[in-house]
Amino acid sequence: MTVHFPFEHTYAALPANFFARVVPTPVASPRLIKLNRPLAIHLGLDPDRLASPEGTEILAGKRVPEGADPIAMAYAGHQFGHFVPQLGDGRAILLGEVIDADGIRRDIQLKGSGPTPFSRRGDGRAALGPVLREYIVSEAMATLGIPTTRSLAAVMTGESVLRETPLPGAVLTRVASSHIRVGTFQYFAARGDTEGVRRLADHVIGRHYPDLAHADRPYHALLDSVIARQADLVARWLLVGFIHGVMNTDNTSISGDTIDYGPCAFMDHYDPAKVFSSIDELGRYAYANQPRIALWNLTRLAECLLPLLGDEQDKAIEEAQSALGNFVETFDAAYQAGLRNKLGLFTVCDDDRALAQDLLDAMAKNQADFTLTFRRLSDAALTSADDGRVRELFADPNAYDEWAGRWRQRIAGEPQDPAARQTAMRSVNPAFIPRNHLIEAVIEAAVNRDDFAPFEELLTVLSKPYEDQPEFARYAQAPEPHQRVLRTFCGT
Ligand code: AMP
Ligand code: MG
Repeated sequence: MTVHFPFEHTYAALPANFFARVVPTPVASPRLIKLNRPLAIHLGLDPDRLASPEGTEILAGKRVPEGADPIAMAYAGHQFGHFVPQLGDGRAILLGEVIDADGIRRDIQLKGSGPTPFSRRGDGRAALGPVLREYIVSEAMATLGIPTTRSLAAVMTGESVLRETPLPGAVLTRVASSHIRVGTFQYFAARGDTEGVRRLADHVIGRHYPDLAHADRPYHALLDSVIARQADLVARWLLVGFIHGVMNTDNTSISGDTIDYGPCAFMDHYDPAKVFSSIDELGRYAYANQPRIALWNLTRLAECLLPLLGDEQDKAIEEAQSALGNFVETFDAAYQAGLRNKLGLFTVCDDDRALAQDLLDAMAKNQADFTLTFRRLSDAALTSADDGRVRELFADPNAYDEWAGRWRQRIAGEPQDPAARQTAMRSVNPAFIPRNHLIEAVIEAAVNRDDFAPFEELLTVLSKPYEDQPEFARYAQAPEPHQRVLRTFCGT
């Protein structure tokens, strides 16, 4: 039973300095942990064949499928503000591209499949814990409706990887609309290779922004579009309490998808300064800093594109600055609209910004759980009898009462009926998010007890984040103090 991948290779057809050809390193005894069957079907792949021993060997990097042209992509990047001129896929290998059921080209990449010429000091491998974490969180983001890379499969390699202690090794099959990052542009710009930047920009326009090919000034339009997509993406992160954790330019995708789930986390109680990542000592990538950092990263992209924006450097800089200047407005519009939706406001009033901010301030001051507050507020929109379930989330419940009075007055001025408001709010305020303590429990069971039932159950719950699922109510709860996860770690 042969597994057929209808691969195409538009990236591997770019000049040879865009990547290194490299095959995955075979592993001892692959074992399939999880196959994302609906995603496989969407990609035009046969899930039964993928789940076969041969398919499992492919997903583990032990066997190269027919038609693959495996490459590691070259890229550079600013890591915590410091420029590294050569990073590249050090532990990931792109097998090829397939066209999905929506007609969208998708990369199929193995992550953790062995060293590449870009590995520097790493072993090219991944441990089971981070692979499960990325699988859970990326799929949760997808069901929450947030642009993201996806996870097609997780396999164990049968080998150990040495971190602080030996850990079971695993490979994640990642699916992305592409793996092109801001850092990919930086790779060529840092080498003074303007032709490389141009080839890459043309490729990106063809692949992600085809409408721009006929624009008056395609490269200006490209910069505008990437800025708009990133602004929208980061607004969506904030609206679900997501903290990426390592927003380096090499982890900033050009297509506007969330990419690289390392030390990422959803916050429990609302805290704008929240940081989970163990390596983010200065809070550069704290929750509320994310829009600022996205703009910083986009500024690095604009610098790379300058030579394409025109021959007159001063004019090009001015135009790039004006494009970057739109970020704040685009972000703010998306964020404020999202907050209005979370509050069940159908119309727009001048005071809405303050109304939303005052709730967030009260939540921060009173350690109110971000997800639960908005979810329960959705039910309180139907009847004030449910106010008690919201106010109990605040250290000082009076802080909610004061705010709720203003909110009730505001919604009373709208013609929509309370049931419509409740339905609308429940469709944007999830009951279930991949909370840290839940992920940790899944990893603990898998790594220490070879028990994947908690992993499967968590995926089931997260596949319907906007439904109540009373049988799984415990997954909606905030962690008890002793369950709180304070630190998360990079996937390495
Ligand atoms: P990441 O944190 O996964 O985005 O990785 C940042 C950089 O380090 C990229 O160039 C990776 O390819 C490289 N890297 C991370 N982990 C490993 C590893 N285990 N082996 C080789 N390279 C790695
Ligand atoms: Mg990365």
